[in-house]
Amino acid sequence: MIKTPIYFDNNATTPVNENVLQAMLPYFSHNFGNASSNTHAFGWVAMEAVKEARNQVATFIGASPDEITFTSGATEAINMALCGAFDVYAAKGNHIITVQTEHKAVLDTLSYLEKKGAVVTRLPVSRDGLIDLEMLEKSINPKTILIAVMYANNETGVLQPISDIGKMAHQREVLFLCDATQAAGKVLFNVDDINADLLCLSAHKYYGPKGAGALYIRRKNPKVKITPYIYGGGHENGLRSGTLNVPAIVGFGKSSELAGNNWWDYAFHTSNLRTRLEQNLLELGDVFCNGTSKNRLPNTSNLTIKGVKSGQLISALPFIAFSTGSACSSANPEPSHVLLAMGLSKEEANCSVRFSLGINNTAEEINFALDKIKEAVGRLRK
Ligand SMILES: *Cc1c(COP(=O)(O)O)cnc(C)c1O
Repeated sequence: MIKTPIYFDNNATTPVNENVLQAMLPYFSHNFGNASSNTHAFGWVAMEAVKEARNQVATFIGASPDEITFTSGATEAINMALCGAFDVYAAKGNHIITVQTEHKAVLDTLSYLEKKGAVVTRLPVSRDGLIDLEMLEKSINPKTILIAVMYANNETGVLQPISDIGKMAHQREVLFLCDATQAAGKVLFNVDDINADLLCLSAHKYYGPKGAGALYIRRKNPKVKITPYIYGGGHENGLRSGTLNVPAIVGFGKSSELAGNNWWDYAFHTSNLRTRLEQNLLELGDVFCNGTSKNRLPNTSNLTIKGVKSGQLISALPFIAFSTGSACSSANPEPSHVLLAMGLSKEEANCSVRFSLGINNTAEEINFALDKIKEAVGRLRK
């Protein structure tokens, strides 16, 4: 028997892994200390736990622990990186380059910085979702201080050529901010290989708790500086004051360790299921897949099902949890900015759905969902 509802929305968030939960629990109860209390054992225990988590996160991305700043998640890390770097490097220039298909955390923060004097270039993408490296190179000018490009797109799973982007940024002495929120735990990378100067992570996208994430800030070659984001007490190297969320940070550390060890299993498992789901839906006819087939996350399938409005399909299948694209903007019914940037018409974008699979999904769930989706598509197309 299949247990419903079935969860196919793992790019929006994932369930907390059982081992992660077990690691967190003591820090809600007997190990409840404040990690900044350095005069007694309650504080020392919490401080040790935070130290271990910082090591686990750093190891996961090939950084050193002093390059990790804990935040409430990727949105905060992105705000901190963009606003903080703009403050420090404004003397050098005010030009920032990004891509039209970035997460709203990047795009909305940059719109805010435009009001503060930033000049922002938003690069287009091709039909398969990739940027053109030559166009990127041409858009760099002497006033360019930062390039922000996501590793993996949350709606389509498209992977940008980020090592090339990072290399180009470093050659031109421009900072590279990489939003690796969706890539983490699904593909293997380290901050040196991709030449990232600033990089963000979020625990809840890879089986950790919500409300925990990090900003990686490179300490050498080059030493990157940003201004503080939250004032008051000097926590996190003075960048982000406030009492640390110790249980969440412990869970984040554990989920990073598990992702580092198991990313291949996650990728292998989800890509097998994804292939089965996608191939079968493509066979329906008048269905196409959005995002390059060559460089895509293993778990994500973004499909346009012609003649079927995504909202109608989602309502017809209440026992399957999937989405129209990003969870963050589904409060407004606008067609996806990612799909429009890829050249889909409004009509096509409105007939597009995202399935994002996770480690807990099974072949039985895929088979069950396929039957129901095929039936619903047939009915809605009539
Ligand atoms: C989820 C997500 C974010 C935001 O992360 P939060 O930790 O939920 O704030 C940013 N970028 C991408 C690509 C994401 O998928």
